[in-house]
Amino acid sequence: MCESWTYSIPLAVPVETDLYDLLGLPAHASEGDIKKAYRKKAKDLHPDKNPNDSEAIQNFQEMAAAYEILSDPDSREVYDTYGMEGLSGHGGGRGGPPDMDHVFAQFFGMDPGGGGGMGGGMPFGFDFGGGGGPGNFRKRTKGEDSVIPYEVSLEDLYNGKSVKMMMEKEIECGTCKGSGARGSGKPKKCAACEGKGWTHVQTQIAPGRLGTTRAQCGECHGAGEKLREKDRCKKCKGEKTVSEKTRQEIYVEKGMSDGQRIVLAGAGDQEPGLPAGDVIFVLKALPHPSLQRSGNDLLAKVKITLSEALLGFDRILVNHLDGRGLRVASPPRKIIKTGQTIVLRGEGMPTYRNPDDRGNLYVVLEVEMPEEEWLDTIDTQVLETLLPAKKADVEPKPSVVDDARYEESDLLEVRSQSFPAGSDFFDQGLGFQFGEGADEGAWEDEDEDEGGEPECRTQ
Ligand SMILES: [Zn+2]
Ligand SMILES: [Zn+2]
Repeated sequence: MCESWTYSIPLAVPVETDLYDLLGLPAHASEGDIKKAYRKKAKDLHPDKNPNDSEAIQNFQEMAAAYEILSDPDSREVYDTYGMEGLSGHGGGRGGPPDMDHVFAQFFGMDPGGGGGMGGGMPFGFDFGGGGGPGNFRKRTKGEDSVIPYEVSLEDLYNGKSVKMMMEKEIECGTCKGSGARGSGKPKKCAACEGKGWTHVQTQIAPGRLGTTRAQCGECHGAGEKLREKDRCKKCKGEKTVSEKTRQEIYVEKGMSDGQRIVLAGAGDQEPGLPAGDVIFVLKALPHPSLQRSGNDLLAKVKITLSEALLGFDRILVNHLDGRGLRVASPPRKIIKTGQTIVLRGEGMPTYRNPDDRGNLYVVLEVEMPEEEWLDTIDTQVLETLLPAKKADVEPKPSVVDDARYEESDLLEVRSQSFPAGSDFFDQGLGFQFGEGADEGAWEDEDEDEGGEPECRTQ
C-alpha cells in the first residue's frame, strides 16, 4: 500500500486519492466505511503486532494520519476539493494538535492545576509534507481550535459553576489590519519557491525507497510571497496577528459529565480572512472521596454502628454535594445487615439541561463492629444474657473431636489462591462479620463451634 504514497500526481488531476488508497477505499466511501476500514487496518498494522518492523510502523502511522483527515467531514471536504494542498502543514485544519503555546489559562481562586496535562490531537507526529499552498489555494475553514482539559469536582457538576479566566489568544493585528505590511508595503514573490509555496524534496518513503514529495517552502512558510524586512508592520512584525489577553468565562452546567465539551465558539485564535477558531474545554471529573457517580445516580457507603444496626438510627447519613445534610430514620424494629442498600429518591445528580429531574442516591450500609476495648467497658456476662444465645455443637455429635488452633488469616491472601469453589465463595460471605443474621450471635464468639456452617466462616 506504500506504493501509492507519492505526491507525483499533478495538480491537474481533480481529486487526489492517496489517503483513500491508504485505507483501501474508493473516494466515495461512506463515513461508516472509513471507520470500518480504519479499525480493520489498525488491527492488522498495529505496531504491537509488528514490533521491529519499521515499514509496518510507517504504514500504520500513514494510515492513522489518513484516517484523522478523512474521518472529519470538514477536512475531508477540503481534501476532496483541493487535495493535500488544501490542508495546512500538519495535516487537517481542525484535527491538528492543539496549540498550547497560544493559550494559557489562569484560574482565579479556582483549581490551580486546572490547565495542566495536555492531550489530544494527532496520534503521531506524522508529517504529510503537504504544506499550505500559495495564497488563495490554501483553504482553511477557520482559525485553529484550542482544546483545554479542565478538571472539575463532583460538587461542580452537581451545583454548576462559572469560571473566570484570562486567556491569551492570537487576534488580527489592528495596525496593519491583518496584512502584515507596513504602509503601502507589498509582499514580493518568494524567490525560493518561485511563488508556489512549496518545493520538491527527496525523502525516504520506505526503507531503501526514495520518493519526491512536496514540502512547504521554508522561506515564505507556504505563502508563496514574502514581505521585505522594511515593509513589515511594526506592531506584528509581519506576522499579521498579535497575542492579546482576554477575560473568558465558562459555565459548567449542572449535570454535565466527565469528557463533556464546553465550546466557546469563536474565542480561539484568529487568522486574517478566517473566522476565529473555537476554545474547547474538555471536562475531566475528579473522583470524590465518598460519592461515586453512575449516570445520574450516586452511590455512597455509610458506616453504621452495631447498636444502630440492631436498634435503628435517625441521623444525618450523608452530607450532600450542595452542603445539605440528609437525615434518614430507619423503620422501627428493623435489624440492618451489613451491605443492605437503601435508595434516597431524587437525591442523585441533576440531569443535564433539565436539572430539576434528578437521579437517585443509593446508600450501602456497612455495619461497623465495636473495637475490642469496648468489651472492657461493659459487663460481658450481662451482655450475654441480652444477646441471642450462642450456638451449640451440631447434632449428631461427631465421635472424634480435635482441638484446632484459632489463627487469624488475611482474607485477601486466601482469596488470591484458586479454590475450586471460585471467587464467589468468598463474596457470598462478605457479611461474615455479622453472620447470617443477628439471631445467630456469632460475633465475639471465642468457641470453635462452627461445624454446621462451612460456607462463610473465615475467621
Ligand atoms: Zn501588523
Ligand atoms: Zn517560498
